Amino acid sequence: MTPELPTAQPDPTSSDGVGNPFGAVPALDGELRFDQAALEAAATDFGGLVHQQPAAVLRPGSAEDVAAMVRHCRERGLKVAGRGQGHSTNGQAQVPSGLVVELGSLNTIEIHEDTAVVGSGVVWSDLVRASMSHGLTPPAFTDYLELSVGGTLSAGGLGGQIVRHGRQVDNVLEVQVVTGEGEIKTCSATVHPDLFRAVLGGLGQCGIITRATLSLVPAPDSVRHYVLTYSTVEAMTAQQAVLAQDGRFDYLVGQALPTPDGWTYMIEAASYDGTAADDARLTDDLEPATVEAQDVPYFDFLNRLAPAVEAFKGMGEWQRPHPWYDSFLPASTVNAVVTKTLAGLKPGALGATAVVLLYPVLTAKCRTPLPVMPDGDLVYLFSLLKTASPGADSAEEMVAANRDQHDTTREAGGRWYPIGSVPLTQDDWVHHFGSFWDEFRTARHRYDPDGILTPGQRIF
Ligand SMILES: Cc1cc2nc3c(=O)[nH]c(=O)nc-3n(C[C@H](O)[C@H](O)[C@H](O)COP(=O)(O)OP(=O)(O)OC[C@H]3O[C@@H](n4cnc5c(N)ncnc54)[C@H](O)[C@@H]3O)c2cc1C
Repeated sequence: MTPELPTAQPDPTSSDGVGNPFGAVPALDGELRFDQAALEAAATDFGGLVHQQPAAVLRPGSAEDVAAMVRHCRERGLKVAGRGQGHSTNGQAQVPSGLVVELGSLNTIEIHEDTAVVGSGVVWSDLVRASMSHGLTPPAFTDYLELSVGGTLSAGGLGGQIVRHGRQVDNVLEVQVVTGEGEIKTCSATVHPDLFRAVLGGLGQCGIITRATLSLVPAPDSVRHYVLTYSTVEAMTAQQAVLAQDGRFDYLVGQALPTPDGWTYMIEAASYDGTAADDARLTDDLEPATVEAQDVPYFDFLNRLAPAVEAFKGMGEWQRPHPWYDSFLPASTVNAVVTKTLAGLKPGALGATAVVLLYPVLTAKCRTPLPVMPDGDLVYLFSLLKTASPGADSAEEMVAANRDQHDTTREAGGRWYPIGSVPLTQDDWVHHFGSFWDEFRTARHRYDPDGILTPGQRIF
């Protein structure tokens, strides 16, 4: 990863096309920023691996602003990407010498009877706070709530509700999108369905999402939260398979946790509005090594990573490079891949505050084509969320290991969840999209014919 930091400062007052590649810009409801602070902020992300500075940053006041600037950039051969919270790990929202559209200014939230209509820059914590005041909640979350709606809908949006409700992209009724031609289009399963299918989980390749209509369901008041431990990966994944398929829990995830002697395995499960009276029914036939249960208010349950995030910030770990790797593995190969991967990790391979996620996904709940899943009714998310901590492997070493892990995933019939830090070839992407590649490429050519959108994904 070679950092690119253009040194030329665009002159916002110039319209000669030399100092300022944008020239005279259209009138805007929001603001176009050329100052160094705005440019530098848009040249960073959570991964801290790639630093590519744009020539300008748009803080739109409306979807029309986004459309006007996309048209303007297209005429001038400049590239454009949306940015939500910048929690990408490999420069996916960056645009060297182009335009970054910071969508945080599109942050309206309207709560209706069973839907929310939101600006794409809204973060999930704000949305759920607003919906809970109406007794409602989005059905599916990521396990960290400070991500933007547009950012997670562009990736997929996975969390423990996946066994009940699928991914966040599976709970979208309609999106408003600015295409690469600078047109504002509203799409759904029945209106411009090709755009809808290519935008949800579509990594910003066919449009910038400006607004989304999301389904809402009744919110529980509290959650009965269970922590179950297992001594082997086989025991945990077998238990997860049963729990995913019998549907007794509303939420189901898992982790591998390092011990002085190796690894232990932990399922977190939750029953919405459950109480201690449900414990026997929900856990008596299970075979964990240990069981803990507690009642937690619903929002605190959704937001339970927040204290750890604050602690990581205090330790400086949050600010360090994060070369993440995330994959989906078929049920038939998950145990072998996880066992081999964890056994092969040398000290320092993951960093001091890494998290290793391992949890089941029912593909029947995944109703949109993206993100792509492996074949099979049951697959597993396997994530190595690394931090290049002091004394650990370097960020570059971790990225190289991610590439090896990607090859292992591919050989095992898996797919990657494209939010991480892996150097990929065009062949990798074609293989990744599999049978959806032709449809995806056709949508890209139709909706972004000049290929100006979201170059940081490095797909086309
Ligand atoms: C701490 C942390 C926890 C995470 N937890 C989870 C999790 O539990 N589950 C999960 O599924 N993922 C998780 N992720 C990954 C996360 O969902 C993705 O990286 C997501 O894209 C980040 O959202 P963002 O708003 O920061 O997007 P950004 O990083 O700003 O953008 C991500 C990509 O989407 C594009 N994009 C952003 N907004 C739009 C838009 N409105 N329209 C079109 N394209 C757009 C950008 O150009 C870029 O390519 C986590 C990431 C971090 C750092």
